[in-house]
Amino acid sequence: MIPATTTKGHTVLRCGAAGPRRVVTRGKRRRVAANVAKKPTDLWSSRFLYSDLDEAVIHDSAAEFCVLPPPWEVELAPVFDKDANEPEFLQAVTETLQSVGPLLRDDPKRVETFRRMVEPERVIIFRVPWVDDDGRKRVNRGFRVQMNQARGPYKGGLRFHPTVNLSILKFLAFEQTFKNALTGLPLGSGKGGADFDPKGKSDGEIMRFCQSFMTELYRHVGPTVDVPAGDIGVGGKEIGYMFGQYKRIVGSFDGGVLTGKGMSYGGSNIRPEATGYGLVYFLSEMVQRKDVAPSLAGLRCAISGSGNVSQFAAEKLLSFGAIPQTFSDSDGTLYKETGFDEADLAVVCHHKNEKRGRLRELEGHAEGWEYFEGMRPWQVGKGYDVALPCATQNEVSLEDALALVQKGVMVVAEGANMPSTPEAVEEFERSGVLFGPAKAANAGGVAVSGLEMAQNAMGIQWTREEVEERLRKIMVDIYDKCDEGSKMVEDGSLRIGADISGFLTVAQAMEEQGHV
Ligand code: NAP
Repeated sequence: MIPATTTKGHTVLRCGAAGPRRVVTRGKRRRVAANVAKKPTDLWSSRFLYSDLDEAVIHDSAAEFCVLPPPWEVELAPVFDKDANEPEFLQAVTETLQSVGPLLRDDPKRVETFRRMVEPERVIIFRVPWVDDDGRKRVNRGFRVQMNQARGPYKGGLRFHPTVNLSILKFLAFEQTFKNALTGLPLGSGKGGADFDPKGKSDGEIMRFCQSFMTELYRHVGPTVDVPAGDIGVGGKEIGYMFGQYKRIVGSFDGGVLTGKGMSYGGSNIRPEATGYGLVYFLSEMVQRKDVAPSLAGLRCAISGSGNVSQFAAEKLLSFGAIPQTFSDSDGTLYKETGFDEADLAVVCHHKNEKRGRLRELEGHAEGWEYFEGMRPWQVGKGYDVALPCATQNEVSLEDALALVQKGVMVVAEGANMPSTPEAVEEFERSGVLFGPAKAANAGGVAVSGLEMAQNAMGIQWTREEVEERLRKIMVDIYDKCDEGSKMVEDGSLRIGADISGFLTVAQAMEEQGHV
């Protein structure tokens, strides 16, 4: 249940499943948003608003507290009420709501559209039984959130990770709605996955799991219905196993049912590279157009993660003459002050992709390779110009943001989805750090997925150069849309502009199709 109190003219919604607690979360006092009581526009300048008011009671969840000015609390309170146990989802909705708020003001139609946008069109939850190498019967939970089909088939990745739950998939599917619209391609939005942990599993186990997953999912997907791709824990190998099983069940070769396929059976050039490459193209626009530096050459970059997005971001950074200094995994950070070069990157990629190793095993691999157990990249290193969080959601906390600011970081571009906590974003913006939001900065992956669908529909395969040039243009175009969107409101930023542009594109399609 979410009690609502009226505080200085604004309705404060309290979200979260846990009981009331003091304004203390994760061992520290929350930052105070003294601007709660100021003019309404302050509400939009802050993603999350925390109150230090005496009567404030806060709940222990990522989305424990949000403030909605009238009249939206009437319209939107039920969302927060119904989904009170979904902190990541409420976090994503609140952040977006605060960006698009000025467009909703005095426009009930837009409020109603937003209200529909936060409700998935369909959620499918299913059992995934499989047998491990020792003959033990195992079971996991599979999901597909079909969020919004207003602009095309549902489109979004599949994540296999033990943390997967409905809240995380709904937040990802919601973000995907805006991201996919920014690409300009005819794509709806969705997300799915399972709480399956591929780590430590044999190829045979992964194949059996993927086949079982698709044995249920196949009835809900199709080239014009829903087109999943990869995400954390789902790369080319898993997509191949799922595609093989889909084809076997339906008895026909529907290449367009999945993207991220291998080149030998309908994949697109540059799809594996697309998110990381696109991120760096977007970063390059940010740096040059906002006069941070003449180019990326010589900029010291902190990268988190060491998976698909991180590896290809590092590769593209190197081609621009930038200096990637870190990689990380969920155990710690690998650091090289002078920067990892192409040969070093090949070692990291081989270690992660082929040997499925941990970064700690690369400590001291060559001169200058240092490893910091239990630390994120933001806390190690002497100084950075750029930070690229490319691992997972909420991996940049307020402390991390303060550390990055202190290390001189000038630009943050999000490769992962929602990697920065609201407090971290607030700190970046307060400190004048140029911030590239995930919805825009990591849209390269889904953009090339859209291009893969187009190639499948036409029965052709574009060259590497052709796909990369299309990707580059899409990322420049996305930057332009964010920039234009940012100018539609007072004190707009690329973050706000991305939300506004995505919202307006999807809202128009939804409104033209009636109340469906
Ligand atoms: P990936 O290849 O599976 O790599 C994920 C990386 O993040 C791994 O290094 C992993 O380390 C690390 N990681 C995962 N959970 C973590 C945690 N809780 N704490 C610290 N590190 C963690 O996945 P990916 O495809 O690169 O995706 C990374 C991010 O980009 C995700 O947020 C994803 O949604 C987003 N994204 C991906 C694409 C795409 O095309 N792949 C497109 C858009 C956005 P471990 O090995 O220790 O788990």
